[in-house]
Amino acid sequence: MNAPARSLHDIPRSDWTREEIAALFALPFPELMFRAQSIHRAHFDPTQVQISTLISIKTGGCPEDCGYCSQSSKYDTGLKASKLMAVEAVLAEARAAKEAGASRFCMGAAWRNPKDKDLDSVCTMVEGVKALGMETCVTLGMLTAEQTARLKQSGLDYYNHNIDTSPEYYRHIISTRTYQDRLDTLAHVRDAGINVCCGGIVGMGESAADRIGLIHALATLPVHPESVPINALVQIEGTPQALATPIDPIDFVRMIAVARITMPKSVVRLSAGRESMSEETQALCFLAGANSIFYGPKLLTTPNPVADSDRTLFAKLGLTPMPLS
Ligand code: SF4
Repeated sequence: MNAPARSLHDIPRSDWTREEIAALFALPFPELMFRAQSIHRAHFDPTQVQISTLISIKTGGCPEDCGYCSQSSKYDTGLKASKLMAVEAVLAEARAAKEAGASRFCMGAAWRNPKDKDLDSVCTMVEGVKALGMETCVTLGMLTAEQTARLKQSGLDYYNHNIDTSPEYYRHIISTRTYQDRLDTLAHVRDAGINVCCGGIVGMGESAADRIGLIHALATLPVHPESVPINALVQIEGTPQALATPIDPIDFVRMIAVARITMPKSVVRLSAGRESMSEETQALCFLAGANSIFYGPKLLTTPNPVADSDRTLFAKLGLTPMPLS
């Protein structure tokens, strides 16, 4: 089947069909890359990459059973759990991240959902990071409408909540909350006027149809997420996904390209798994329309390319950090 050729200036659509998305995945690689590049250039400066730093403000001991996660209390991964960090310690990390060039500071806590007392501390962190002139993002698990309203009041810019995989494959990855639970939290975030950061993970044994289903679920949200992280699984010993077959690098680039084409105005983040990607694969991802990365030595609990190797790669490719708009 031929993929429909669309105008470069298409406004974002939420009516993508699985067949259309499948046809994009099936395009010859040069054609797919050309389309992704053309759409990328219509909406973004292709030389700019948004840089975020992610820290874990509360590590491990999570009651959820996400099959890829080092922080789930259901798996013996050797991770040492820790309590919620003190506000000042978080702000010190944010200052260092800003000095290293990050424009957005993301804070992750391993909770099923935050308790109201903990949310008070997180709101204070958000206010402090905002005062440094950075964008803020948090990921805290499921939220109620009241909690999202409080986060909005504190000035929160982005909330991250991933849907992980296709609706069909989801049950193979997590059983302690449903796909609908995730969509409900995303709707609360959207209703509160907070930008949505939502993506998924590939390389968890999913089929090609599941990758189509993941993109379809994201691209048919009523409003596309402003930020779409595409993660390549980092295998963690002790988790059910420890032995999953890694995704082929070209298939990963195709994921990025199809995300770019279907969600033309979203920032597509080359996220977890970058540590084990070659420079060439990362360069192809940037060509395919990825325009955000995490910067810093760790992504929550998994390794990330150190800032120096990122700087070298940016210099080689002539890329520069995207300024705050
Ligand atoms: S991914 Fe998040 S919710 Fe799932 S087990 Fe890990 S910390 Fe908990």
